[in-house]
Amino acid sequence: MTITIHAQIPRTLQSSCDIMALAAHPDDTEFGAAGTVIRWADEGQSVVYAIATNGDKGTSDPGLTPAKLAEIRKAEQARAAQLIGAREVVYMGYPDQGLEDTPELRKDIVRLLRLYRPRVLVTSDPYRRYLWHRDHRIIGQVAMDAVFPYARDHLAYPDLLDQGLTPHKVAEIYFWGTEDFNFQSDITTTFDRKIEALQCHESQMKEFKHSDPVAWLRERCREMAAGTDFALAEGFHRVRLPL
Ligand SMILES: [Zn+2]
Repeated sequence: MTITIHAQIPRTLQSSCDIMALAAHPDDTEFGAAGTVIRWADEGQSVVYAIATNGDKGTSDPGLTPAKLAEIRKAEQARAAQLIGAREVVYMGYPDQGLEDTPELRKDIVRLLRLYRPRVLVTSDPYRRYLWHRDHRIIGQVAMDAVFPYARDHLAYPDLLDQGLTPHKVAEIYFWGTEDFNFQSDITTTFDRKIEALQCHESQMKEFKHSDPVAWLRERCREMAAGTDFALAEGFHRVRLPL
């Protein structure tokens, strides 16, 4: 299946998807949720990636310009999303390290939800303490607000209604990167493909100079499987919305 890449949020209603993975940066979904998203895609659920920024600050290489890095990261993300089985990738056009809780970002997420009408939204947990990228906190918080109540309420954005973007209720949100997981997803059989997808992000993986990210992730996924009979799991804080 050829993947469709949108350089910006489409302006007209798209065919609906089952799963939307909403990330601050390219590679976030692979780190946080790829094992689970691969399983869902394998089951035949349609997956759309939405990425708020182009990740053009994510390097320690002084020889790399932001424009060049953005181009590299878009190509890496396209390969990773294709490997995972996503149908489309949508870029939202916000600056890396520049996400804020603004009416504009909230409305853009509502627009995405009403365009693609996902049953499930997967995104960053906004409540991880201390060491957590500010963009990850902001995207998770604004996504929660966009789902409930803004995407749901027909009076929220009359101009979106005029564009045919009618209210939409997301059934479930899965927050990755959480310290407080209430849902363990078995990724024993998809872990290797999660790693393969992560390794598409070469510009990011080479930033791990003194640690082995694959060994670290395997250990984390083993810890997140504690108390289950899975070998490896991704832990999420799952919120089910009233329908
Ligand atoms: Zn990130």
